[in-house]
Amino acid sequence: MGRLGGYSGKVARVDLTNGHTKTENLNWEWAAQYIGGKGLGFKYLYEELKPKLDPLNPQNKLIFMTGPLSGTIAPATGKYTVVTKSPRTNTILDSYFGGTFGAQLKFSGFDAVIVEGRAKKPVYISINNGKINVKPADHLWGKGAYDAISTIKKDEGDAKTSVLAIGPAGENMVKMASINADIIWNAGRGGAGAVMGSKNLKAIAVKGDGKFPIADEEEFKRISKELTEKSVLTETNIWAKTDGTPIIVDMSNTAGILLTRYFGSGVFEDHDKINTDVVKAHLAEVRACYGCPLACKRLVKVGDKILKSPEYETLATAGSNCCVGDFEAVTEFNRICGDLGIDTISTANTIALIMELYESGIVKKNMLDGIEANFGSKEALLKLAEKIGRNEGVGKILSGGTRAVIQKLGVDAEKYAVDVKGLEIPGYEPRGTWGMALSYSTADRGACHLRAWAVSEDAFGKLEPRTFKEKPALVKRLEDTNSIKWSLIVCDFWLINYEEMAALLAPVWGKPVKPEELKLTGERIWNLGRLFNVREGFTRKDDKLPPKFFKQPLKGGPTDRVKVSEEEFEKALDEYYELRGWDKNGIPKKETIQRLGLTR
Ligand code: SF4
Repeated sequence: MGRLGGYSGKVARVDLTNGHTKTENLNWEWAAQYIGGKGLGFKYLYEELKPKLDPLNPQNKLIFMTGPLSGTIAPATGKYTVVTKSPRTNTILDSYFGGTFGAQLKFSGFDAVIVEGRAKKPVYISINNGKINVKPADHLWGKGAYDAISTIKKDEGDAKTSVLAIGPAGENMVKMASINADIIWNAGRGGAGAVMGSKNLKAIAVKGDGKFPIADEEEFKRISKELTEKSVLTETNIWAKTDGTPIIVDMSNTAGILLTRYFGSGVFEDHDKINTDVVKAHLAEVRACYGCPLACKRLVKVGDKILKSPEYETLATAGSNCCVGDFEAVTEFNRICGDLGIDTISTANTIALIMELYESGIVKKNMLDGIEANFGSKEALLKLAEKIGRNEGVGKILSGGTRAVIQKLGVDAEKYAVDVKGLEIPGYEPRGTWGMALSYSTADRGACHLRAWAVSEDAFGKLEPRTFKEKPALVKRLEDTNSIKWSLIVCDFWLINYEEMAALLAPVWGKPVKPEELKLTGERIWNLGRLFNVREGFTRKDDKLPPKFFKQPLKGGPTDRVKVSEEEFEKALDEYYELRGWDKNGIPKKETIQRLGLTR
């Protein structure tokens, strides 16, 4: 397989156990089959990782991966991913950042960085125009991610340097630990920050001034410009620029699917205190990932501080699910999570569970280090987030997430559990959007709203939300499409179609690309993730919703008394497996593996 355009063509490999660094050629055969990002990251991990390995074992790998569009002028292509085995779920994990790290990595001469081993003492990796150095980070250990990033940027001596860092949570291997990127962006879900901490790796800094080849520069410029005007800056996507995800707060509340009072209701009386109008009233400035015309990241003024605005998922989990109708408190929560390095969704849902247990009298103040944890208490929200992020006091239990709290306290899991494969449920109440119910249960990394944002077509779209009719095909279609988008890598906020993806990739690669070919590649990537999880022991038994969603109805609003039918859910899962070419137990069949050009 020959060289393709769009890649630097090199992978930086760092073994922290012995401090060895090396530059190796990108595997061109895999690049052609798996593109980049999610697909190529999955392929490297699948081939290189020993099955059943403890994710915090030094042999686990952290694969920071770009795609062929990263660092180019193509719109909405600024994201990049970290792929690893998740300590949270034991599944494969791909978690995405925004910002400039991906572009800088390509300019520095690498498509990916693969980190393995464990350093004896805290270190950070510095990559500067092709040179890889492992540097001491004792002086950064214990610091928040924001401080560490600012210090490293100063020490590296170039404002263009992009830095990924963990906070104290990652250092303590808290399993909901995130990785922060340049203060504004986070790879939140699945605990990649804990894997970084297990390697004694505080941060990675990268900067580059080089170029990488695009096969047909003129055609690529033309098509990028055309798509920016005709497909990106259009009514379908422009909401990301004008409002961003906070616009979803009111949409969810109207549809009765806004997480409220620890999954007790789908409507929140104070939704208008955390919605897009409130964000706009606090707006200070906007930021963009590398070269992105949508510039969807909002910074807001809170008191005398300029902070990153919470996204919808944080507003729905730390806001309505904890009944905290206070935008400034949720913004402060968001700041704490980013700095200490914890996932906002898992953290907030765990605190909401504690609030539920506190109000039920199961958890008392003396069990919470003296914190009164009623629903609506912003003090409890912020103090408990600090404790989780620092892994201190009661935070040591809470940092294991909702499942750990339920097990530790021995409370009724049927009544309280809200996770899939150990990962807490994001901001769309599945009882009011059965598309999301199926999407959460089949997501490769545990409950995830992004693998298949089916709510856009049921509760927010034209399909009936509380039926599984048409949902298996919808979820499969979205999962496959996103698999290819996240391999190129194109941002979620651009609703790009296969024809447009093919038109963008062809001049970059320098060979014709057919839309059907990309469709098949997306399906191949999704199945590769499934094969990884099957190898780890995951089957149908894990593609489940928590019993709460089958047994306990919601209260109030348009979804009053609504729950998911378990019988219909099981039928939908059967239909989904059939469409996927998997057996009744959720294992890809031999003919599916062959059709997709996969091996087991
Ligand atoms: S839409 Fe937002 S998240 Fe996506 S690439 Fe652009 S700035 Fe980044």
